Amino acid sequence: LQDRLGSILNGLTGRGALSEKDVAGAMREVRRALLEADVALEVVREFTDKVREKAVGATIVKAIKPGQMVVKIVHDELVALLGTDGVGIDLNAASPVVIMMVGLQGSGKTTTSAKIAARLTKRDRKKVLMASLDTRRPAAQEQLRQLGAQAGVDTLPIVAGQSPTDIAARAVQAAKLGGFDVVILDTAGRTHIDEPLMAEMAEIKRRATPHEILLVADALTGQDAVNLARNFDERIGITGLVLTRMDGDGRGGAALSMRAVTGKPIKLIGTGEKMDALEEFHPGRVADRILGMGDIVSLVEKAAESIDAEKAAAMAGRLKAGKFDLNDLADQLRQMQKLGGMGGIMGMMPGMGKMKDQLAASGMDDRSIVRQIAIISSMTKAERANPDMLKHSRKKRIAAGSGTDAAAINKLLKQHRQMADMMKAMGGKGKGGGMMRAAM
Ligand code: GDP
Ligand code: MG
Repeated sequence: LQDRLGSILNGLTGRGALSEKDVAGAMREVRRALLEADVALEVVREFTDKVREKAVGATIVKAIKPGQMVVKIVHDELVALLGTDGVGIDLNAASPVVIMMVGLQGSGKTTTSAKIAARLTKRDRKKVLMASLDTRRPAAQEQLRQLGAQAGVDTLPIVAGQSPTDIAARAVQAAKLGGFDVVILDTAGRTHIDEPLMAEMAEIKRRATPHEILLVADALTGQDAVNLARNFDERIGITGLVLTRMDGDGRGGAALSMRAVTGKPIKLIGTGEKMDALEEFHPGRVADRILGMGDIVSLVEKAAESIDAEKAAAMAGRLKAGKFDLNDLADQLRQMQKLGGMGGIMGMMPGMGKMKDQLAASGMDDRSIVRQIAIISSMTKAERANPDMLKHSRKKRIAAGSGTDAAAINKLLKQHRQMADMMKAMGGKGKGGGMMRAAM
């Protein structure tokens, strides 16, 4: 029976695995797309090599072509590499928190300084002071002053003849005396990276000890993005990236290049010249734009969703037959995560109030779902199918593998037994399967 169920599930979830040939073919398309999006060559190479390895052997979702499957895998890896949603500016430090803006000339440092200041002032009710350290261009300090006046943000009074580092020190001092929460230091850029620029940035950093050092870069930066990000990060040590001109036509490959090279989060994006044209960074959206194959991605996602529905139906069948092993539990937990956690899934099930209470009482809250999936993932296939074989030494191994302890594993096993009993009871009455199906 177990085998038969296994093959039914296989039939549902896929039509085999991606071959090297499938992957190589699709990867040529992906490579072209990334290069067209202006991702730096070195990053394209490294990224496609890594994903190629991952994709070979992956299961193909039913009704999807191998090439489409590869695109979806690439997309997911792209999202993972680009980082998490909405990292934002970190103000978690003693006041005044110093934010230093660095980057090439014309990248948008001054504009972004004012945008960030305006947002911190209006949205976060912070008292912000801005200072321009750009003594190279005569109008630069005046530009920041005007933007500040326009946005209702204080700027450090301009004193002629001071060096950038002296202005930085004066700004921090003024912020301390004036009770400011945040100081934004807008530095001077150059048309290209050179030693005097780096030396100046390093000296400002030493004097002002900024909590955030944001590298501001034009999203249209092409092959130079790698050099730019690497240089600033190695020499100055940036804490994050801001990509400007995301409102332009470019596909924003620089985001991937700079993130890949530095590993630093993309904290914000600029989407226009106006003061409010500053947005959170959403990896999913940017990945779509870089890859330019959003249609395929959503097609595969839809197909995978319908597979989930079929799987749920198969699961309901198993429940009816009184079968509920740890594989099933893991499937359930994953479904729950997708459906918005315990509250979400139970809310969709009619007459599930009692079960919800029971589960809550046994500690099956949303946070523990992640841990429980980790535990089950550390088990062998045989162990999952037959939890009774989990004796002391196996538990020890699983605890080490999942970063938990024996107590957590025992708790999970107990919960599984309770659930299996509950399912059995419901299946016996001929109701459980239907309800599970209805909920999914
Ligand atoms: P800085 O030399 O690095 O200080 O660059 P600026 O802040 O002076 O910006 C240079 C030009 O780019 C200005 O005309 C800005 O209005 C424009 N700019 C800055 N950010 C954006 C953006 O996100 N989108 C668009 N379209 N223009 C921007
Ligand atoms: Mg400027």
